[in-house]
Amino acid sequence: MTSDLALVGAAYLVAAILFILSLAGLSRHESAKLGNSYGIAGMAIALIATLWVVGQSAGAGQWVAIIVAMAIGATIGISLARRVEMTGMPELIAMLHSFVGLAAVLVGFNSYLDGQRDAVHLVEVFLGVFIGAVTLTGSIVAFLKLSAKISSKPLMLPGRHYLNLVAVLVSVGLMVWFVVAPQLAPLLVMTAIALAFGWHLVASIGGGDMPVVISMLNSYSGWAAAAAGFMLNNDLLIVTGALVGSSGAYLSYIMCTAMNRSFISVIAGGFGSDGTVSNVDVDYGEYRETSAAEVAELLTHASSVVITPGYGMAVAQAQYPVADLTAKLRERGVDVRFGIHPVAGRLPGHMNVLLAEAKVPYDIVLEMDEINDDLADVDVVLVVGANDTVNPAAAEDPTSPIAGMPVIEVWKAGEVIVFKRSMNAGYAGVQNPLFFRDNTAMLFGDAKERVEDIIKAL
Ligand code: NDP
Repeated sequence: MTSDLALVGAAYLVAAILFILSLAGLSRHESAKLGNSYGIAGMAIALIATLWVVGQSAGAGQWVAIIVAMAIGATIGISLARRVEMTGMPELIAMLHSFVGLAAVLVGFNSYLDGQRDAVHLVEVFLGVFIGAVTLTGSIVAFLKLSAKISSKPLMLPGRHYLNLVAVLVSVGLMVWFVVAPQLAPLLVMTAIALAFGWHLVASIGGGDMPVVISMLNSYSGWAAAAAGFMLNNDLLIVTGALVGSSGAYLSYIMCTAMNRSFISVIAGGFGSDGTVSNVDVDYGEYRETSAAEVAELLTHASSVVITPGYGMAVAQAQYPVADLTAKLRERGVDVRFGIHPVAGRLPGHMNVLLAEAKVPYDIVLEMDEINDDLADVDVVLVVGANDTVNPAAAEDPTSPIAGMPVIEVWKAGEVIVFKRSMNAGYAGVQNPLFFRDNTAMLFGDAKERVEDIIKAL
């Protein structure tokens, strides 16, 4: 038995190392696939080792129950993952985070009912249920907002920061009660408060600030898993949860820096716009419309082109014709590069994934900071389904809900062509003065069709 446990410990260690290698691999395009394979291998080892432990300690009956549960979960997971569109990934991720939260709540209650009553364990249970419940409802609200089942407008309750503070303080009081006199009542009351707190925290955030919420919930789900690991005495779950929690927190920090937001404000919830579509009434003048043939003509005479994709490229699945157009222009000696905003699309790295899928060479895909300084020397920028991430109001209008958010300064280029279907606002609900600039022309229609038209006309 002791040697079995040592073997399981060793398997957990190997799995943990594979998870770390996986995170390292995922940090660069070139190694992302390998990173994914490390993660899958680590998870397979972890599952086999855990099933082994359960089989040894609890007998074959439990083993069968777990395998049946895993088979049901895997069937649902595989069918969901196969069906989900790339544009639906953020919603799916939000939903999966809510399951981690729910699992932590259930493990917490189960752990309490098991009867262990030492103070450390009670604190673990209390914190695990608290984090799990916040993650559960926070992720459900994020799911509803991202899938447009509820409005993405921020909920602005009066005194909302005080409400959050009171929820935290009352929960701390309940924890003291729970540890001193372990009963179900404080645990239940705290669970109700944490569920409402999680709901409120995410409901208060709106518009363009949602990317930070997603990475923040990613982090919370990691801490919820780590808490479950403490309750179950499972070292691997603690390590894995801590890896997810800390990498999610770091991602939130990167997102906050990218959007020029305060990390603390996000954690506290409830900043962002007041939910109105702003600047719609401002008269920016007339916009100019162009055609695919005119854009093809423009590109024929260009020597440098930058493409800034956004959410619309994902909706239209325009990455493949965009990759074809890029190859065609490069064959003709045009310098083509991509400028990627850190929050373009609907999930971190969304555009990079799409471009990699369409086999666009990595070395011409540049980050916002790398491309911004060069834009003044670029002949043509093609804005393919991007809106908020190229909005000059962020830089020029302090009253804008996205004020202060760094954007790709496409307007500095010679000519800007905007691919979109209408004059509608982007995700943050802010009108975009870029569309009315003298050097901007609108190419209306589905981005995929319009790019294909340009290729034909070239
Ligand atoms: P936006 O969401 O601001 O705008 C996308 C544009 O694409 C729309 O204006 C839309 O205009 C156009 N569009 C949609 N479908 C098509 C189509 N088939 N063909 C052509 N155009 C189309 O995009 P950005 O990528 O610039 O900005 C991302 C926004 O999402 C930011 O506000 C960000 O904060 C937010 N966000 C980002 C997350 C992330 O992690 N990256 C997560 C959650 C939110 P029209 O309807 O007229 O066609």
